Amino acid sequence: MAAADVRPLPTAVPVAIIGAGFGGIAAAHELRRTGIDHILLERADRVGGTWRDNTYPGCACDIPSHLYSLSWAPNPNWSRRFAPAAEIDAYLAEVADREQLTDRLFTGVDVGSAHWSAETSTWRLETSRGRVDCRVLVVAAGGLSQPNIPDIPGLADFPGPVLHTAHWDAAVPLEGLRVGVVGTGASAIQLVPAIVDRVSALTVFQRTPAWIFPRDDRQIPRWRQRLYARWPVSQRIVREGQYWRRELVVHAMVSRLGLLERAAEQARRRLATEVRDRDLRSRLEPDYLPGCKRALLSDDFYRTVGRDRVQVVGALEQIVGRQAVTVDGDRHELDVLVLATGFEVLPPPMANRVFGLDGVSVAADWVDRGGAFLGMATAAAPNLFWLTGPNTGLGGNSMIVMIEAQARYLAQATAAALAGDPESPRVLAVSPVVQRRYTNWIEQRMAGTVWQLGGCNSWYLDENGRVAAIWPEQTWRYRRMTRTFRSVHYEQRTPCTDR
Ligand code: NAP
Repeated sequence: MAAADVRPLPTAVPVAIIGAGFGGIAAAHELRRTGIDHILLERADRVGGTWRDNTYPGCACDIPSHLYSLSWAPNPNWSRRFAPAAEIDAYLAEVADREQLTDRLFTGVDVGSAHWSAETSTWRLETSRGRVDCRVLVVAAGGLSQPNIPDIPGLADFPGPVLHTAHWDAAVPLEGLRVGVVGTGASAIQLVPAIVDRVSALTVFQRTPAWIFPRDDRQIPRWRQRLYARWPVSQRIVREGQYWRRELVVHAMVSRLGLLERAAEQARRRLATEVRDRDLRSRLEPDYLPGCKRALLSDDFYRTVGRDRVQVVGALEQIVGRQAVTVDGDRHELDVLVLATGFEVLPPPMANRVFGLDGVSVAADWVDRGGAFLGMATAAAPNLFWLTGPNTGLGGNSMIVMIEAQARYLAQATAAALAGDPESPRVLAVSPVVQRRYTNWIEQRMAGTVWQLGGCNSWYLDENGRVAAIWPEQTWRYRRMTRTFRSVHYEQRTPCTDR
């Protein structure tokens, strides 16, 4: 654990960034490059975001590491094709240090709320360490940070330990115990093979099966690491290859759904080879198109659930004492319960704590307007830029690509907002017409995609059934659309007209 940060927070700054994971680090890097003073506010005691918080056994990234890293900070030393979480966490700490981003980092700062003041044209942040005013606010608090705790009757009275994958407690023993895992998403399929040898019995509560494809993870040999260090261009070539292969997959998800049927056929054949038990096989086979929910990568999940000590059962309906009761009424006695039940994504919790014009929360405003311009800006919240906001999540490529595009864009936008006389600050609010045109375009593009037509219920959908989390196109298009900040998309106001 890092030493507690006791430096006083500055009370007024040009730019405040909330969150110091990949998003906050990328934003701070671009602002620094542009010569804009800023601070980074982080509620934990160090940088790292999701890769600091997720420490469950088996946690790793399912996007290849060369691609799942910042383009301006390549790491020739990745140990594996898909680096484990701890290695990504260490990478982020090293990048923040090397880039001297930590000078402007304040840790242990929980931002309770942010309010736009039309009188002063500033954002006022109430934090656990005091008040901060800033001209431009960047929210990089991440979409996958608040664990989703399912509302299961009796859960609070379960007599054994209850863990969520995103709040793992390594001190809780699993050895020789009967462990239940709720969920079969990205986290569960990494966790289950990683703990199976430690437990006496493992019960996996599955509500919806996932499509699972081979991961083909392997170590990166020393000679390759040396090659990448010596000739960084060789690593860039590998990264480009990985990027464009994924763009082809996204193309299928966006407009060639027939190709997904073929991928499903391949996955079914693999399932048939790896899971001999006919009943188990039929329970593991999804009834929607691959990609509708995130398609998962694993080399060992199917083999693991075929083992004697593992059972895949129906969704968990209630807990009665030590017994977990499934929807079919079956009872399973457990010592430890693990919730691999994902996150509260729509809206992200911070969107309920940021209030723009007329005190309207960003979360409510996104719902009203059907999303945000480029996923980052909304008419009701001037001088605010949101990373990994509405319709910028990905199901098939590296989020770092989107984050970097957003960081470059917001640095340009921030430079425009801060240009001119500090006594008469500019207020940039995206034009409502531009925002509407953009959200209509998103809706049209989404209409033919697997996320809309794939036949599943996923966390990509909001409460109205709108696909609110995912970018409906290949990512090169987002990069192109965000390459240049265009002031014509924004209404530039002075404080007295800012209503
Ligand atoms: P998730 O994909 O949302 O999966 C949650 C699982 O819990 C699903 O199987 C879900 O079932 C089940 N579940 C949720 N609420 C439930 C309830 N009330 N009753 C029964 N089952 C319930 O969560 P996750 O696995 O933590 O992954 C979240 C996201 O994090 C991923 O989509 C991915 O973007 C990211 N992630 C990435 C990696 C990586 O390697 N890059 C690793 C882990 C996570 P249903 O399917 O029926 O809803």
